[in-house]
Amino acid sequence: MTTPTQPGLHKLVIIGSGPAGWTAAIYAARAQLDPVVYIGVAKTDPSPVLPGGQLMLTTEVENYPGFSHGITGPKMMDEFRKQAERFGTVIKDEDVLSCDFSKRPFTLTTSDDGQNPTGSVQAQSVIIATGAVANWIGLENEMRLARSGGGVSACAVCDGALPVFRNQPLAVVGGGDTAMEEASFLTKFGSTVYVIHRRDSLRASKIMQQRFLSRPNAKMMWNKTVVDVLGGEKIEGVLLEDTVTKERSRLDVKGLFVAIGYTPATKCLKDSGITLTEKGYVELKGRNSYTNIPGIFAAGDVSDEHYRQAVTAAGMGCQAALDAERWLAAEGVY
Ligand code: NAP
Repeated sequence: MTTPTQPGLHKLVIIGSGPAGWTAAIYAARAQLDPVVYIGVAKTDPSPVLPGGQLMLTTEVENYPGFSHGITGPKMMDEFRKQAERFGTVIKDEDVLSCDFSKRPFTLTTSDDGQNPTGSVQAQSVIIATGAVANWIGLENEMRLARSGGGVSACAVCDGALPVFRNQPLAVVGGGDTAMEEASFLTKFGSTVYVIHRRDSLRASKIMQQRFLSRPNAKMMWNKTVVDVLGGEKIEGVLLEDTVTKERSRLDVKGLFVAIGYTPATKCLKDSGITLTEKGYVELKGRNSYTNIPGIFAAGDVSDEHYRQAVTAAGMGCQAALDAERWLAAEGVY
């Protein structure tokens, strides 16, 4: 049975435009669900939903199957987008500010500046693929210098090639793959690149560790946390504290790149009734994309605290589109 949809009522709305969102759109468009993708706006800092997702902040993607010579993150996302458009996906350069999932059809409040409500849209089903955004240490001077362009950044790949960082001592905070990737990238520009890590072993994969540690200008600062960022208009250094001895020391650097993980982008789900995990990710019902609300599905980093890879996010996007298609059919919507 098919229920005709009213004008302005969509069968499927997808929130987010990383690998999960675009893959969901490709599958849903080919299944004639006429998906509408809200890609987010980059006007707010940090953007609640980054258009194109975190791959827009990365250089070379070498581990996505099918690209034997690698591909840049932005180029890959551009290809995903074109593929989704080819099958008729409607793309909205807007954010979703809030969601009312208490009754069907679901209502989403949208915004074209990422802050103020400018419209609303109704949907029979929704796929949440909002991803995750970079974390900050949370120091007053860190935030001040990040906002003013004073040499503190959460994206070495975006900012590291700037002339101000050339042949200067630079530091990266973190011990995961992101920290290694950013630090390796920075070794091309900085005189010395320090990685400041709070423990004595890295979380990063061996190959990423090796890539950084093999550079002649790479230096590890083990068991250290950044307790202050020093400098007026521009960063001049960081104050470190040893996590074992509690001893404090100063490290002179002209750039600080924070790479300490991500927080799932769930702001638009506040009061929506969606169940989140203890760590704030959208909780899934087992090995599928079902959330606690029938008709609402989730995919990618917003619902995956374990893998967080482009290829796993894309796989989850596929699952969400298939789950949505079957659910809509079972509901007689399509
Ligand atoms: P992550 O694996 O969660 O690592 C975060 C790092 O930051 C950890 O070393 C953690 O220390 C440290 N940290 C967290 N909070 C901190 C704080 N407040 N102060 C100081 N240090 C702090 O995050 P990620 O590196 O962003 O990686 C996320 C996912 O993306 C991973 O699955 C990763 O494999 C993947 N990724 C893959 C690639 C690639 O393959 N090309 C590149 C980037 C990311 P502890 O270790 O002590 O917890």
